[in-house]
This record gives sequence, structure tokens and C-alpha cells, in this order.
Amino acid sequence: MDKIVALLIGPPGSGKGFQAKIIQELFNIPHISTGDMLREEIKNKTSLGAIIEEKIASGKLVEDSIMNKLLEEKIKKPESIKGFILDGYPRTLAQAINLDYIFVNHNITNYKVIELVVGDKVVIERILNRYTCLNCGSVYNKISNNPQVEGVCDNCKSKNLSKRSDDVLEVVEQRLVTYHNQVKPILEYYDKKNKRYVMPTDQGTEENYKKQLLKIINN
Ligand code: AMP
Repeated sequence: MDKIVALLIGPPGSGKGFQAKIIQELFNIPHISTGDMLREEIKNKTSLGAIIEEKIASGKLVEDSIMNKLLEEKIKKPESIKGFILDGYPRTLAQAINLDYIFVNHNITNYKVIELVVGDKVVIERILNRYTCLNCGSVYNKISNNPQVEGVCDNCKSKNLSKRSDDVLEVVEQRLVTYHNQVKPILEYYDKKNKRYVMPTDQGTEENYKKQLLKIINN
């Protein structure tokens, strides 16, 4: 059977994690967030964590060589056997090219690139109101999506809810600059392969996103 592989590309705050969760529930495949993987390294105080912390804090990208190695290890794991959702990778053209090698090695041909489109103003507003569970990564929003019990994560019941340290205006602006600088050649690369699907994520409902994602992935 063909593996189900979806790549989510979009600016910070465009809802990559949210859409990944929908796909994960629909197809029962793992959500691979490179941002979460890096934050885990920092949390666990690994030697890699020490190298990447400053990059993340300043809104810059971690080196391709580090990212490629981390990703390849993750994709080799048995839980990725049926497929996976990539959230936050590729972020450079070199990563997109590397992904092609990974796809060849793992016999993946039928992948979908889903570009989440939303304006900078909306994402800045979203991110500044966003807070996450430092234990399981669940994401909340001060205005539109608080946990059922204040200060307690709905998913894992941890009380460790906090703002991501890079979710502050100065860093968000830099992350948006980084995104816009890098994304054009990546989108062109996938356009040439006829792989890109565009999905606006500024005001849809979960039901509506589900329908769109099903249509794209089953196409
Ligand atoms: P995210 O959680 O996807 O917003 O990522 C948070 C930060 O992790 C980014 O601002 C980058 O510094 C770093 N990062 C995540 N994914 C990548 C990637 N594929 N390549 C380089 N840096 C990344």
C-alpha cells in the first residue's frame, strides 16, 4: 500500500500543528514537527540542544545538515511505516532536495505539499496570544481557545502551560522574514512537480478543513 505523506508549509502561526492533528486523526499517521523535535533537544539539555538554542531564540533557521540528520532518523522509525505528516520541514530548498533523496530511499512517490496561506497580521496576532503545554505540546490561545480548566492542559493534565520563548513580537517578525525569504523557491520546486495544494487557514472551521484535507490527500 502507498504511504500517506503530507508536507505542511506555511508561516509561523498558520496552523500547521492544528492541521497536522486533523490529518493524524483522519489517517492514523504520526505528526513529525521539526520545531517540537528541536525544543525536545533543548528541554533535555542535549549537546545538540545547546547548539540550536540560540538559533531558535533569534528566529533563524537551524543548519540544514543538522535538520536533515534529525529528520532521516525519525522517518526510519517503525511508527512512520504507514506514512507521516511533516510540519516545519522543508524550510529551505536544500531541505526539499534532501527530502527527495529520503523519499527515494523509502519508496515514497505519492506525497502532497499543502501550503497554508494566511496574512502576516493575522499570524502575529495569533502567535502573541498563543501558549503551549510544555509537557505535550498542545497549543492554546488566550482569546479563542483556552483549556477547559484554567491553567491545566486538556490533553495531558499538566499544569506546565507557558508561552514559547520565541513567540514574542521581535522574534516572530524575524521568523516571518526568514519564512518569506526561503519559501518562494520551495514552492516553485513543488509546482514544477505538480505537488502543491493551497489551503487558506485564516477563518475556516475544523469540519471544513477536514473536508479539504481529505480531498487533497485522497486525490
Ligand atoms: P516551529 O515550531 O516550526 O515554528 O519552529 C521553531 C524554530 O525551530 C524555527 O524558528 C527554527 O529556528 C527551528 N526550525 C524548525 N524546523 C526547522 C527546519 N526544518 N529547518 C531549520 N530550522 C528549523
